[in-house]
Amino acid sequence: MSNLRVLRNQIVNTSENLVKSGILTRSNHGNLSVRVPGTDTFLLTSVSNFSQITEDEIGLFDFENNLIDGSVAPSSAEIIPMHGIIYKKRPEAGSVLHTHSKFATAFAVANKTIPVAYEAMVRFGFAESIPVAKYGPRGSQESIENIATTLDDTKPSRAILLENHGVLTFGTTINEAVAANNVIEESAEIIIYAESLGGAKLIAPEMRTFAQDRMQKFAEAGVLKIRSADAKN
Ligand SMILES: [Zn+2]
Repeated sequence: MSNLRVLRNQIVNTSENLVKSGILTRSNHGNLSVRVPGTDTFLLTSVSNFSQITEDEIGLFDFENNLIDGSVAPSSAEIIPMHGIIYKKRPEAGSVLHTHSKFATAFAVANKTIPVAYEAMVRFGFAESIPVAKYGPRGSQESIENIATTLDDTKPSRAILLENHGVLTFGTTINEAVAANNVIEESAEIIIYAESLGGAKLIAPEMRTFAQDRMQKFAEAGVLKIRSADAKN
């Protein structure tokens, strides 16, 4: 199977899993792209409903947002630069995901950053609050400039909220981009619930580092394993 074929297959499978996961809004709206390794091109879903993605509904684009192969529906054509800007500004990004996951989007609509108050966020590498890029109509020059400014102003992060719109996450792989969307959504949901109990309490910056270092040490130690004959009796 060719490289492009493998990537198209991953996009289709991930789209199906996103629909099944329940993280999308009822319209199943969103878009997903993957950088083609070693090139300045990316594959992007060419219709905006994740339940309709097939290998034919994925276009190939260059970093200037030109369609190279395939087709793209008007509503998806509008947002090509939203993906292109991430690949341009973040060379490490291998995949970009955009959804309207409702709890995270609630923060975006309220123009509020998602604070670091939930440990899972820290464990997934988010040691700073998730920033909000100022509003501009989806995919417009204004919107893209606001995303670029947010990327410049924040420490390396794999998530941005789009004011009055939704969520943009990215990672080195599709799985990382999806995991970032998942943890941002989970955090937003829990923090909104915490509001009814007096509000979420931030994790102190030094404790964020402590949590990440501790996790890293365990990861480096690998799987702990003892084969004891006595323990089986
Ligand atoms: Zn959107």
